[in-house]
Amino acid sequence: MIEKVLIANRGEIALRIMRACREMGIKSVAVHSTADANAMHVRLADESVCIGPPAARDSYLSTSAILSAASITGADAIHPGYGFLSENADFAEMVGEHGITFIGPTPAHIRLMGDKIAAKQAVLEVGIPCVPGSDGEVHTFEDAERWAKEIGYPVLIKAAAGGGGRGMKVARSEEEIHEAFDTARTEAEASFGNGAVYMERYLDRPRHIEIQVLADNEGNVIHLGERDCSLQRRHQKVLEESPSPALNAEEREKIGETVSNAVCKLGYCSAGTVEFLYEDGEFFFIEMNTRLQVEHPVTEAVTGVDLVREMIRIAAGAPLDVKQSDIRFNGHSIECRINAEDPFTFAPCPGMVKEYHAPGGLGVRVDSGLYSGYKVPPHYDSMIAKLIVHGRTREECLMRLRGSLTEFVIDGIKTTVPLHQELIMNSEFINGAYDIHWLEEYLKKIEDEGGR
Ligand code: ADP
Repeated sequence: MIEKVLIANRGEIALRIMRACREMGIKSVAVHSTADANAMHVRLADESVCIGPPAARDSYLSTSAILSAASITGADAIHPGYGFLSENADFAEMVGEHGITFIGPTPAHIRLMGDKIAAKQAVLEVGIPCVPGSDGEVHTFEDAERWAKEIGYPVLIKAAAGGGGRGMKVARSEEEIHEAFDTARTEAEASFGNGAVYMERYLDRPRHIEIQVLADNEGNVIHLGERDCSLQRRHQKVLEESPSPALNAEEREKIGETVSNAVCKLGYCSAGTVEFLYEDGEFFFIEMNTRLQVEHPVTEAVTGVDLVREMIRIAAGAPLDVKQSDIRFNGHSIECRINAEDPFTFAPCPGMVKEYHAPGGLGVRVDSGLYSGYKVPPHYDSMIAKLIVHGRTREECLMRLRGSLTEFVIDGIKTTVPLHQELIMNSEFINGAYDIHWLEEYLKKIEDEGGR
């Protein structure tokens, strides 16, 4: 059994993992940069180790510092959270070589899904439908032109090593293909040190719908329904909900079963998310995330399954203790990502939180490392809190969300709370009639009309 977990992360997700450890009677070790010495994840851990200066590459991304911290503290497992080293196959491999359990899938699965071209090929072979596109890397302008003709404009050029929406460019016509190809390659090279790109049909009005799975070492795989993450800005998720307002029970069951069977055939183990674009009743695979997702709490709210606990149990070699037939989808859940940003220009706004009050009550969960007097450092991702609300119906959930956002106090810095307040009052959002472009179009319309 696992007795001590080092959490190779910071902020709300480090706290989230620590809570699961505490419930399971497992000790936790926090790691932190010098900028995070006063962070809540350091305060709540059983032990903590400073692993370097503020810059993430010298601390949260430093494999040697993290492995040393694990060895000094005698941690027998490492949970990577999301971001940072969570999808770094070399890191997962090194953890194993040090005799430490990596709480996540095998390095081979992380590597496979990290290469989006290889991932698409692998999932196609196990029956998952993909966005029509090039059959592998696109090397030259001529190839790009040829594929674009075959796929049909508009096309999307994407980085094989992609992540966070970088290295992604749309070409709407033959005139745009050269520049899009060039920019995507340059951006991919700069962001990932790998300029390989591939092409896909650009879907015009899809929703982003992803399926959560859990798989153990014995080949048991279950799915926990979907999350609709269509509310995005610059390909980044802003708000997520489960169930999706666009799916019915039959569609959910069908795609869930397809994904479970495929994940089983791949021999995957741990928590994972298979992401799709959904348009006109059809699903198209875009990628698989081999880690815990930011938005996992909406799935926890509607299924009652603690995903982090299951990840730890599976890593310790235990079989899943729930079967597919045990899973009941109960009510509706929505998560708002709250960022330290201007709510309308999205300019980052780190600094001192003078006053902090989190909402509460039935069906309200706040995952955050904030407290009054905490200084949000400028060095990391701007997400500072997640508000997750659950209700018996989508209407009840929205009602509760309105109340919770009104009650939320984060004084001293700008946050995206006002944006969420506005969005959930919008009639299109209330009707569930939104796709992946809706939010950007909405923001642009306001700007064109002269702003607020
Ligand atoms: P990343 O790994 O960079 O996040 P993804 O493949 O997961 O890249 O795509 C991120 C987002 O980009 C999707 O949620 C969607 O909004 C958009 N996107 C990706 N592929 C397509 C496509 N073929 N057509 C239209 N939009 C797409």
